[in-house]
Amino acid sequence: MQGRVIKVSGPLIVAENMGDSKMYDVVKVSELGLIGEIIELRGDKASIQVYEETAGLGPGEIVVSTEAPLSVELGPGLIESIYDGIQRPLNKLVEACGDRIARGVYVPSLDHEKVWAFKSTRKVGDKIEQGDIIGTVQETAIVLHKIMVPFGISGEIIEIKDGDFNIDQTVAVVKTEKGNVDVSMCQKWPVRRGRPFKEKLPPNSPMITGQRVIDTLFPIAKGGVAAVPGPFGSGKTVVQHQLAKWADAEIIVYVGCGERGNEMTDVLNEFPELVDPKSGQPLMKRTVLIANTSDMPVAAREASIYTGITIAEYFRDMGYNVAIMADSTSRWAEALREMSGRLEEMPGEEGYPAYLGSRLAEFYERAGMVRTLGSSDTVGSVTAIGAVSPPGGDLSEPVSQATLRIVKVFWGLSASLAYKRHFPAIDWLISYSLYSDRLADWFSDNISPEFLSLRAFAMKVLQEESELDEIVRLVGIDALSSKDRLTLETARTIREDYLHQNAFHDIDTYASMEKQFKMLHLINKFFVEGNQSLGKDVDLDDILKIKARDKVGRCKYIEEKDLAQFDIIEREMEAELKALESEGGLIDA
Ligand code: ADP
Repeated sequence: MQGRVIKVSGPLIVAENMGDSKMYDVVKVSELGLIGEIIELRGDKASIQVYEETAGLGPGEIVVSTEAPLSVELGPGLIESIYDGIQRPLNKLVEACGDRIARGVYVPSLDHEKVWAFKSTRKVGDKIEQGDIIGTVQETAIVLHKIMVPFGISGEIIEIKDGDFNIDQTVAVVKTEKGNVDVSMCQKWPVRRGRPFKEKLPPNSPMITGQRVIDTLFPIAKGGVAAVPGPFGSGKTVVQHQLAKWADAEIIVYVGCGERGNEMTDVLNEFPELVDPKSGQPLMKRTVLIANTSDMPVAAREASIYTGITIAEYFRDMGYNVAIMADSTSRWAEALREMSGRLEEMPGEEGYPAYLGSRLAEFYERAGMVRTLGSSDTVGSVTAIGAVSPPGGDLSEPVSQATLRIVKVFWGLSASLAYKRHFPAIDWLISYSLYSDRLADWFSDNISPEFLSLRAFAMKVLQEESELDEIVRLVGIDALSSKDRLTLETARTIREDYLHQNAFHDIDTYASMEKQFKMLHLINKFFVEGNQSLGKDVDLDDILKIKARDKVGRCKYIEEKDLAQFDIIEREMEAELKALESEGGLIDA
């Protein structure tokens, strides 16, 4: 059945005679075959968001339903791809029609010609079920793509091959109750539906990032959800690059949503330049990029985060830890607002639709650590990090508020810290992680039982600093006791020598958990023993002058292979303080 356009309003068109269609069916509009998706059905009238430029479209044009929901293609070839919001490969689009993307062009998401070396991991006679891995393809130097039995298929393998195949060719035949089914390396999945899994697991291990302020103070769990606001120049891009490079996730999905055109171009230029520190390969060898500049149609931006998270779930199902970054969800929400306005829905706060919060939640809820389908006991995770860009940095606006209600970690980048060149500019006084308690056992068992008290110590000293600062502002530093001044000095050490971390320094760019622990242990030692020395009438200035203290300041530059040096510094510190206590003055060292 064919529908007819009766109204065009920017990216939204209304068509009649669409009574047979379903919500979220993909349709082709006009002779050009523009791709759209039904987002509202009333009687026989369908409202359709069109993913391509609708200029020149008018009433009377035909609308044909494909009778299928918006879906992505999943299989070898995803990694290293750069897609638009509905998974059209940008480079292929440009090849097909030049910089100004022509309309109605069909470009497959994956290369269907390219052959991949498929290695079976199962044999004839094996009983298999949906989600089982039947073979692998070395997709890039660092990603082993696992070929899974598609959803809804289980039975016995009656044929399985090895060798070079394209993604449409049959690599295995499964005898099912309903007959024989050919399995290829390509699957499809509707983007608005989460891929199924056996069971969601409570997040119980951290996604270590090597960034001290994150791992120590505001850790994120594998399968967790975090938000990071990004006032301009606050170091948001560097934080994201650091996470992409260093987080212990095997796969990165980066969704760039409609930032200004040139910012997205930066992403497209910068990401392919990044090097994966663990393998020395380009980071793109384990990355999928989804890019929507603001000059692309707004509806595609709305779809892009679903496209991204579906791809992330697909790699999760192989047993990988995946990190997805959406930048920025504020631009995504603006797309939602625009479509809602055109649908003439009742606007909520600041014109955003009332369902803004539930839509955001639908996205973040797809993150998680799961036991995957299939008979083997495989666990995979999707960790979602969304950037918000509130106008003027004001977090009371609806998108930030809705996001903060959902996410469990908030890394508050602060413009004033960035202005002081304290990077990463994650403000310890406003940031939080609700995973801290859940992850306590992990840190205690895997790093040290002392780790949790060290974290508490760091937070307490930083809190006290902000209170003492207030007093200093009012009555001056002289009003403070030696004890309080030692607290201030310790806080400074925590800020400048611990939390401050130079992303561009070869050694400092990444700190293992062991190194983080040893650093903080040393700072704490200085504080505790310094206080003891104060109690024994040693002068604060003498305590602050000990040589070991300078070494604490430089210990972030100690290489991972030399962590034993921390113990040496610790002993020196003890000896120096002891000498002060017994001699009542500085010793010649
Ligand atoms: P934004 O994306 O928020 O506009 P950027 O991430 O581009 O900001 O950061 C702006 C500048 O701040 C960078 O060019 C860099 O010089 C500095 N910077 C940010 N984070 C760090 C860091 N962790 N270490 C060192 N410099 C940093």
